[in-house]
Amino acid sequence: MFAKRVSIEQVEEGNDLAPKFDADGLIACVTTAAKTGEVLMLGYMNAEALQKTIETGEAHYYSRSRKVLWHKGATSGLVQKVVEMRIDDDQDAVWLRVAIPGDASCHVGYRSCFYRSVPTGAPADQIELTFEEKEKMFDPKAVYGDAPNPTIL
Ligand SMILES: [Zn+2]
Repeated sequence: MFAKRVSIEQVEEGNDLAPKFDADGLIACVTTAAKTGEVLMLGYMNAEALQKTIETGEAHYYSRSRKVLWHKGATSGLVQKVVEMRIDDDQDAVWLRVAIPGDASCHVGYRSCFYRSVPTGAPADQIELTFEEKEKMFDPKAVYGDAPNPTIL
């Protein structure tokens, strides 16, 4: 489906898409908001998710917890439209710049999955997370119902 990796020159300087999947068959994907540059999430794609993302222009990931192809936003409507897709130098990481209706991406209700900051410069067992997003963009219960996320713990 993708080009075979034959040389460093091909991978780093060429025009072939020759992604490197890890031992689990996955490639990391960082996703940012095209409009603001804000980091929204870090996900993983298998070959099928990468192919679907390229062919549909909508972000697809592989859910490591559920072990299924994951069309982001299929349930919530918060589909990620790919504005630009990039691959890094050694082609083992993808960067998606996306547009999302309502600008919310995180299933917890926030814009970004990275809605809390971790203070530095103090003993690591004494720090408290700081909420950088003060308000949710949507109510997850209204979108997903009352069922708790079974995959998180
Ligand atoms: Zn999230």
